[in-house]
Amino acid sequence: MKIGFLDRDGTIIEDYEDEFWSDITEPVFLKDSIDALKSIRQKGYEIIIITNQYLINQKIITLQQYEEITGKFVNKLLDNGIEILDIFYCPHTKEENCNCMKPKDGMIKKALEKYPEIDLEKSFIVGDSLCDIQLGERLQIKTFGIGLEKIEGKTIKIDSLKDIVKYL
Ligand SMILES: [Mg+2]
Ligand SMILES: [Zn+2]
Repeated sequence: MKIGFLDRDGTIIEDYEDEFWSDITEPVFLKDSIDALKSIRQKGYEIIIITNQYLINQKIITLQQYEEITGKFVNKLLDNGIEILDIFYCPHTKEENCNCMKPKDGMIKKALEKYPEIDLEKSFIVGDSLCDIQLGERLQIKTFGIGLEKIEGKTIKIDSLKDIVKYL
């Protein structure tokens, strides 16, 4: 099974300054992101979301709020015929020094434990932050950075999620 490991905020839905998230209750999908997810699925990838959500333990958003947004996110995608295999999130702050906050690979390890049939070598990772591409480079899998100025290694630079399709 090949996986697209996707960041959520700033990759699929709108991202905001940390403090603005406290008022957010609805995911706002970025232009063309739903079509891009469809194409990724059509290319035979399962989709797993891996998302740093340190705002939870920073008490800027509540866990319930995160779950509400996630529920709406999943439903909107289902309405468009897109099934997400799973979502992994890291609620920790940097100070907690967990092993799941990207660029650490804890969420990927969890995914591999839960789905042993994952073929990591055929999978890819995409995100709009340095931590996403650092994780991809750590795993040595195909990596895409969205809208990032500085990109090193083999990471492929793209302007938005829909640009990924031609590389898959
Ligand atoms: Mg992001
Ligand atoms: Zn964590």
